[in-house]
Amino acid sequence: MTKVKHIFFDLDHTLWDFHSNSVETLGELYSIFHLDERAPKFDANHFIDRYVFHNERMWEMYRNDKISKSRLRKSRFEYALRDMRIEDKKLSKDLGDAYLDICPRKSKLNEGAIEVLEILKDKYILHILSNGFHETQLIKLEQSGLSHYFKQVITSERAAAKKPHSRVYDFAQVQTGAQPKESMMIGDNLEIDVLGAINYGWDAIHYNIHDEKHDHKSVKSLLEIPALLLK
Ligand SMILES: [Mg+2]
Repeated sequence: MTKVKHIFFDLDHTLWDFHSNSVETLGELYSIFHLDERAPKFDANHFIDRYVFHNERMWEMYRNDKISKSRLRKSRFEYALRDMRIEDKKLSKDLGDAYLDICPRKSKLNEGAIEVLEILKDKYILHILSNGFHETQLIKLEQSGLSHYFKQVITSERAAAKKPHSRVYDFAQVQTGAQPKESMMIGDNLEIDVLGAINYGWDAIHYNIHDEKHDHKSVKSLLEIPALLLK
């Protein structure tokens, strides 16, 4: 068996604490845009809940090429506002722009992210492999102090395809010179990160925060990764 040489990390929900950073941003937007005055019947938690619901729903559609990046960015706030009985296209656009400006600058990481990268950086060549938007992911990496750990930042925008589509892994291999047998993917999504990579002949570790049951390599904490790589 060839030894793993290249490790590809997913970014959102794996290293970068997407949920906390997003919730913090949405709370700020609720205040900045005085949504309490616009929709007095609904509190900030309701706004956050509706946004998270529509964002996840629309991301799924985006991942399956059913909607465009601009439609995703435009509509998720429009739907969240509609659930608060606010019909205001200008407000939803302004919220969308402000979210894109504020959220990627947040820097909360999942527990153990820096520690694990410090351990792995001298033994492996590390890369990012993300379905996120390229420009946004670069800001997140920079702002959270992660940029210098990664040789290549591969996003679905650069690859012109999204995980788990095989074109992404093709593109990643061409960009990095990695062979399938020496490639390892680490991410939080079983279908997108883990099965996508395994189907392409890579090894994979599931950052299994929700304790899903399956037979693939799995860790509950990022700090368990180095020991699992030695097995
Ligand atoms: Mg993820």
